[in-house]
Amino acid sequence: MAERQIQACATVLRSGVYVLGPQVRALEARLSDQLQQRETVAVKSGSDALLLAFKSLGVGGAAGGHPEDEVLLPSYTFAACAEAVIAAGARPVFVDSADDDFLAPLAHFRNARTPRTRAILAVGLFGDPTGLPELAAYCRDEQLHLVEDVAQCLGAGACGADGHTRPAGSWGDVAAMSFYPTKTLGAAGDAGALAFRNPRHAEKARLLRNHGYQDGLHICLGQNSRMDELQACLLQVALDDFPAAIARRRAIAARYLEAWADCPMQLPRNAAGHAWNYFVVVLRGPRERNALAVQLATKGIDTRVYYEQPLHLHEALRHWQGTGSLPSSERLARCSLALPLYPMLGDEEIEYIIHAVRQAVGDVNRHSQT
Ligand SMILES: *Cc1c(COP(=O)(O)O)cnc(C)c1O
Repeated sequence: MAERQIQACATVLRSGVYVLGPQVRALEARLSDQLQQRETVAVKSGSDALLLAFKSLGVGGAAGGHPEDEVLLPSYTFAACAEAVIAAGARPVFVDSADDDFLAPLAHFRNARTPRTRAILAVGLFGDPTGLPELAAYCRDEQLHLVEDVAQCLGAGACGADGHTRPAGSWGDVAAMSFYPTKTLGAAGDAGALAFRNPRHAEKARLLRNHGYQDGLHICLGQNSRMDELQACLLQVALDDFPAAIARRRAIAARYLEAWADCPMQLPRNAAGHAWNYFVVVLRGPRERNALAVQLATKGIDTRVYYEQPLHLHEALRHWQGTGSLPSSERLARCSLALPLYPMLGDEEIEYIIHAVRQAVGDVNRHSQT
């Protein structure tokens, strides 16, 4: 932790105010500035933000909606997305990724739509905001709620039909943010936030995050999802560095895309406005993917698999599995690998990674042919 952060923490500790105080209010104001003046509500985690998004909109039986309410969401995403839908008392309906991309395209959401569909959960996976303007227009025409999961794409921008670029998190009825340390805007622990189009929904979220408490009364059933002052204070410091951090992520991604253009692996789409939370490549098969991870580990390069299973294959989600298979998300879970990309990577480390990956990809493809 740098001196600036330590000083900021000391100020909070001396103030004696630890939860939902001036730091949280200041953070909410700054997040509003980032997201087209939307009404922002700070909470304890990105997972809570997703749950409170559905509850504030009244989607699902847990907060005023109907138990048969359906929410369409991609299968190739983090488990918290399905957990939130189910905890809100709604039904998750899983949608496949595109043949040649991580994100689920509009056509797949359209095909999954039924008269019970109330909302689409759009996930800007790995930092890619592509499709948000199109989904926003579709949801507006069809009178569906659009919930944006911007846990991975805060800092990204998407260009609308009018030619204007607007930030991810400003397209839907509500956006759920996570400030888990590995996200584009990271806290020093768990934290999250919501940004609403309609201030009435934001009011509801403010009640829900603090046990429905208002003016001495508990006027609805809520939960404890209060953000603490230390995280709010540290996030303001992180916001000072945020534009530079996103620029650095973009520069590293550009370097990778150029250096690996002729490598026998599928590179992520170089989407306009990408925030590059993760740089995920797709290998020919699971054997090549696993071998690449092992080879890079021997060279001291850490990789991750996002995600080992698409949601519709999770044992715990079997009840909501549906009938058809979702082949693209299944293939991506078997063949994709996240390579290191974060702002603190130095130029020498980047060149080392570039060289090591080129060599290792060549090796694993050669071996799998023989
Ligand atoms: C991290 C993440 C979440 C959950 O956020 P937490 O702050 O860890 O609860 C939700 N959705 C996606 C896509 C994420 O990457």
